[in-house]
Amino acid sequence: MKSELYASVQEFLAKPLPHHIGGQTHMSATEQVINPSDGSVLADVAMGGAEEIDLAVTAAEEAFPAWSALHLNDRALLLHRFADALEKHSAELAQLESLDVGKAITAAEGFDVPFGIECFRYYAGLIPRAQYSIPLDIQGFDARIWRAPYGVCGFIFPWNFPFTLLSWGIAPALAAGNTVVVKPSEVTPLTTLYVAQLASEAGLPPGVLNVVTGNGSKAGAALASHPRIKHMSFTGSPAVGKRIGEACGGNLVPCKLELGGKGAAVVFEDADVDSTAAQLAGAITMNTGQVCCTATRWMVHEKIYDRFVDKVIAALRQTKIGPGLDRETQMGPLVSEIQRQRVLGYLDRGKQSGARAVLDGGVTAPAGVEKGFYVAPALLEGTDDNVCCREEIFGPCAYLLRFKDEQSVIAQVNKLAYGLANSVWSADLERANRVAERMVAGNSWINAHNLFAYGLPYGGVNLSGLGGGVNSPQTFYDYLRAQTIARSLS
Ligand code: NAD
Repeated sequence: MKSELYASVQEFLAKPLPHHIGGQTHMSATEQVINPSDGSVLADVAMGGAEEIDLAVTAAEEAFPAWSALHLNDRALLLHRFADALEKHSAELAQLESLDVGKAITAAEGFDVPFGIECFRYYAGLIPRAQYSIPLDIQGFDARIWRAPYGVCGFIFPWNFPFTLLSWGIAPALAAGNTVVVKPSEVTPLTTLYVAQLASEAGLPPGVLNVVTGNGSKAGAALASHPRIKHMSFTGSPAVGKRIGEACGGNLVPCKLELGGKGAAVVFEDADVDSTAAQLAGAITMNTGQVCCTATRWMVHEKIYDRFVDKVIAALRQTKIGPGLDRETQMGPLVSEIQRQRVLGYLDRGKQSGARAVLDGGVTAPAGVEKGFYVAPALLEGTDDNVCCREEIFGPCAYLLRFKDEQSVIAQVNKLAYGLANSVWSADLERANRVAERMVAGNSWINAHNLFAYGLPYGGVNLSGLGGGVNSPQTFYDYLRAQTIARSLS
């Protein structure tokens, strides 16, 4: 059953979508945004560059003094009102997210949108409770650390979870008293633009949240290298992350990087095979495998390997593939034809270099759907030097490896430079905790993969990130600069 488009969503998509700068809309030349579920044109969206970014930074600078000086309770109240507005329009947000990314509407409604909105409430709740002034116990001094917002913070986001990542990024920055300029992915800008519209309606002062849409090479590069931003946060690929880091380094602007991953799942012989197979099948079909932290290297103990593989193949074959807005759909299309070619290219190269396809994957077409960027789930097995085992594919694919002992499997997990998230599956919690500690990454999960909660820090190390991650009280403090205030008592 396909969801009908809400009238408000149709109305939103009917006109070319402008940037939101200083509480005003601002138009420039547009490009089309494509619906991955059927290849149709969803909307025309403004494509900005250095000029629009400069206007947005100026607007954010002008809004900063008043926003940062607001009474803490007033700022918290405004963010709660903003969350109220997002909640009131959560059905439209979910529909737009499903249309734009191709993700299953049930996932957008059940996770992406409500979990994103909760982020604004979480950080609004921290505002009055946070510690802004920390006394220092130093003999002969009256001294303290004072935490103050930076000013204008820049944000660049990818296309896999546009609304959730936007919330994870800007909620702590706004709560801490900063103003923001956001450049969403040119592939999936819709919910970010809808949110900007709601921000004005909810009474967020003009210039506090600015959105400039456009390509990475123009709008993105202009934002990351803008000399007047005071803090930068980027979520995306390691390759682009390095360029953002270089641009920020050139201006000595602090920079937070949330990057890609190649997560491992280590399944011991005493794991619950049925449940583990079902959960890991879900980990690569969720969002069509376009999930930075998901498990794509599955290391399975040789004693249960064959049984596990049979179970997981059965689960993957049952996954209902279809258009995002179809309520029966469990796995939608990939986000674009470019992404589909990337995934297919990896599978070809992996097989050419010796991997065996346990489940073929490849192009597929759900019944009654002629266009769209669909692929079926794929499972490969082979040696761990294969390109499909080493590099992030970002599609519904996993690479299987057999293991015999704990020491060697830990070494295999830690062989890659990525360090975002891994999981360990075992009935022996002592062993699970021991292995969890030794896997080098920002996150180790036990008997589950992809665990998120506010208060549970999430971020990467090595090739997967820099700067402390998201979703915790620490993230709030990351958006406050620290200065000491001291007076000699002698
Ligand atoms: P990407 O790096 O290609 O693009 C991300 C953003 O950067 C887009 O908005 C893009 O327009 C912009 N951009 C591209 N070139 C730029 C440049 N030269 N200067 C400034 N901005 C530029 O990534 P993607 O393909 O959109 O997303 C997939 C990647 O994101 C994967 O590697 C995935 O693992 C990663 N990701 C990480 C997390 C995390 O929390 N660690 C979350 C989601 C996605």
